[in-house]
Amino acid sequence: MTKILIIGPPGSGKGTQAERVSERLGVVAISTGDIFRANVKGKTPLGVEVQQYIDAGDFVPDNVVNKMVRNRLSEADADAGFLLDGYPRTTAQVDYLDHILEGCGQKLDVVLQLTADDEDLVARILGRAKEKGRSDDNCAVIRHRLDLYHKQTEAVVFKYADRRILIRVDGTGSIDEVTDRIMQSLSKPRPPKPERSEAVR
Ligand code: AMP
Repeated sequence: MTKILIIGPPGSGKGTQAERVSERLGVVAISTGDIFRANVKGKTPLGVEVQQYIDAGDFVPDNVVNKMVRNRLSEADADAGFLLDGYPRTTAQVDYLDHILEGCGQKLDVVLQLTADDEDLVARILGRAKEKGRSDDNCAVIRHRLDLYHKQTEAVVFKYADRRILIRVDGTGSIDEVTDRIMQSLSKPRPPKPERSEAVR
């Protein structure tokens, strides 16, 4: 059973790659951003609650995201594994996800981080804004989302690097190139996690 996360700055193509990679691995892709957007569109109580955060490029409060993810992971299709896209984004969310997984004797297999240069990301997002018309794709909001990524989500990446389950993948190039790079890096053996005594030496 594969349990995997994909983390990347806004505009890195993580949503597109999450869909492709989950299909190849035969697990469900769960995107917190997509779930929020669907709720906003459907004007559900959750959508009404989170819209202001999404439009401003702010993070939705941890307690709201955590509860939503816990409910989503308890659905039957996640029993066979999952690829989480866009969660966790804060260290408090990492702790909460650990707690959910530990509760059912599970842990993550791999965390994929897509990397790209900030200026390329801004250009990509502005291009996407024309195509998809997302409410959070304008210059000031993009800069704010990038800033939050550097200030909060990079700390998440460090946590997983410490656990030796992080794989960094260059997110530049065509969609196919990036998918191939991801699939190749997933197939490579990773160095074993050091024993505790080794790690503190
Ligand atoms: P994304 O599609 O992943 O870029 O997410 C779009 C927006 O949804 C983000 O800018 C946040 O407002 C919200 N969001 C998605 N995932 C999270 C999360 N894990 N924590 C807080 N806010 C989130």
